[in-house]
Amino acid sequence: GAKDYGKNNYRFYTVDMNKKIVEKLEMSNSLRRALERKELLLYYQPQVDLEKGKIVGVEALVRWNHPIWGMVSPVKFIPIAEETGMIMAIGEWVLREACSQSKKWREAGYPSIGFGVNLSAQQFQQQDLVEMIHSIILENELEPQHLELEITESLAMKDLEHTVDILKRLRSLGIKIALDDFGTGYSSLNYLKQLPIDTLKIDKSFVNDITMGSNEEAIAKSLITLAHSMSLIVTAEGIETKDQYMFLQEQCCDKAQGYLFSKPLPPDALERLLVEESVGLT
Ligand code: C2E
Ligand code: MG
Ligand code: MG
Ligand code: MG
Repeated sequence: GAKDYGKNNYRFYTVDMNKKIVEKLEMSNSLRRALERKELLLYYQPQVDLEKGKIVGVEALVRWNHPIWGMVSPVKFIPIAEETGMIMAIGEWVLREACSQSKKWREAGYPSIGFGVNLSAQQFQQQDLVEMIHSIILENELEPQHLELEITESLAMKDLEHTVDILKRLRSLGIKIALDDFGTGYSSLNYLKQLPIDTLKIDKSFVNDITMGSNEEAIAKSLITLAHSMSLIVTAEGIETKDQYMFLQEQCCDKAQGYLFSKPLPPDALERLLVEESVGLT
């Protein structure tokens, strides 16, 4: 009867809820050991200069290769790392790993390219963040302008004064700053004018629907013009089609990143791309 049905519904609901909580607990327990077990790795997605048509940089994107679950998306585990404070250790590992990869590629004779690294809001609470980043740069003899730290608006909003202070100190070391996922926050323009940054990354949601006469087309055009008028470099995210590529090129967008060029790749696959490009196969 209806009563049984209701009961079952309730039971399934709680089982489902419990499952989610258990899953999350399991994940955070395993994540705690992921670093020492060397389960984290970095993939690199090329950033292409739209004028030269060449790879001028990569964005480092963290992956978690769990022995049972396989590849876990950062969309799943970064929020857990943030909630539990593990993001400090993971973030430091990501910076160290990306900079050491840059050193390896430089020593192997690959063309010098930029490295984008994502920072979480919590990392801005780390007392010695600037010193830590500076020492990683020195350890790897990295040219600081080859490191581009990606921050989001939500980070900037938390404590604007503090964020601006840290960004100024990072930039005085020669490090570049990019505002990631631009356009997805809610008071974008207000923060944009106050933040000491070098690059604006236009979120893929605006790039997705660039078709003739669409609102997204108008927004993308305006964002590129706006950024250039502020002397910022523009990187478009999530380019998947030739049409999007041609549109962005026409609008004088500086750089682009997306599946059209390549998905994020493990280091050896990215090396092959760089080699192919330098011998003119692409
Ligand atoms: P994000 O920084 O905005 O990175 C871009 C995301 O878009 C990546 O997802 C990338 O794989 C995906 N993407 C690139 N091109 C395309 C495309 O053409 N189409 C579509 N549909 N997607 C594309 P991923 O690697 O899953 O990373 C997701 C997010 O996780 C990142 O977004 C970033 O916010 C976060 N994340 C990744 N690595 C790190 C890290 O080391 N530290 C921190 N704090 N966050 C990270
Ligand atoms: Mg990013
Ligand atoms: Mg982004
Ligand atoms: Mg993002």
